[in-house]
Amino acid sequence: MLKKSNFKFGIISLYKLRKKTFAFIILFLIIIIVSSYFLISKSIETNNIIFWNKDIKVNEKEDYIKWVDFKITSDVMTKTAKLDIDSHNSNSEIKYNWIELLSYLACKNGGDFKKFNQNTLDKLIEELNNGKSMEDITKDLKYYSYYYQSYSATLGGFIGNYSIETENENGTTSFQDKYGIKAFLPIAKNYSFSHYDDFGNSRSYGFKRTHLGNDLMGNIGTPIIAVESGIIEHLGWNQYGGWRVGIRSFDGKRYYYYAHLRKNHPYASNLTEGSTVKAGDVIGYLGMTGYSIKENVNNINVPHLHFGMQLIFDESQVDGNNEIWIDVYNIIEFLKQNRSTVFMNNSETKDYVRKYNFKDKDY
Ligand SMILES: [Zn+2]
Repeated sequence: MLKKSNFKFGIISLYKLRKKTFAFIILFLIIIIVSSYFLISKSIETNNIIFWNKDIKVNEKEDYIKWVDFKITSDVMTKTAKLDIDSHNSNSEIKYNWIELLSYLACKNGGDFKKFNQNTLDKLIEELNNGKSMEDITKDLKYYSYYYQSYSATLGGFIGNYSIETENENGTTSFQDKYGIKAFLPIAKNYSFSHYDDFGNSRSYGFKRTHLGNDLMGNIGTPIIAVESGIIEHLGWNQYGGWRVGIRSFDGKRYYYYAHLRKNHPYASNLTEGSTVKAGDVIGYLGMTGYSIKENVNNINVPHLHFGMQLIFDESQVDGNNEIWIDVYNIIEFLKQNRSTVFMNNSETKDYVRKYNFKDKDY
């Protein structure tokens, strides 16, 4: 009997205790949910990951560009570049910005420059000459900002202020300040090459994948030139690319990939990961390495430089499924007008260097 009432009392007190604990747990959970809600909403607002790390990144407020189809013809690039450069080098009050001109044109042709219309460009120039601002002209164009950001990421380092060593009449050299095209063709001046638009073609080695660059066929040993100034991000062997160099532009938005460099002597001397190169510098030599896990193997059939260009709007796009590689065929065509002259400066190592020194004035 006594035992039973004790037992009964025990159950009641246990029940009361559980009720209390239960209430505490509920209260605790409510606090956690409410506080995490505020933390998450705050992190979404600022685009800053401060809680639970990566998963939160998936939200609509992350508005960096996810995809770019680069379809500007070299002809229109050359036309707009000339307008930009001439307006800066003349005393004209109105200066054109080729990226702005191209972005406006893209709004009118859907980004496909095979549909380029000269009248559209002429009318735009006329409006600018009449004193209208680009901001006014484009304020109702829904995709202007998208094209402007895309083309700035692609072509942002191509035109600007630089200083280049030039030969004087008396045989000496001096630096001259200039405004113009400051990106170089990746093949040194006076070296021949051929190419066609092979972007997106399928590739047989390894897993099934498409070709994310442009192959420039040339002779083994042809000096390879840095298209733009930047920092060496990758240097060394890669199963697909063989001996390769990856260079990131100073603004971080462009990653230049130069692959299949020469067996035994792929790189210019002094290249190291983390060091800087200048646009027009010799960075290596054309070859046929790659398609091998083993280093320093020639497994490519036709000697060529694989040249690739990746756009990076957010660091999550550096590696993996979110990479944006653009078709550089037209960029190569455009860059044919600016090539770096080189000479052999070391007969023992047979290394080449640029002839005319260069300073990028925008960095
Ligand atoms: Zn290739």
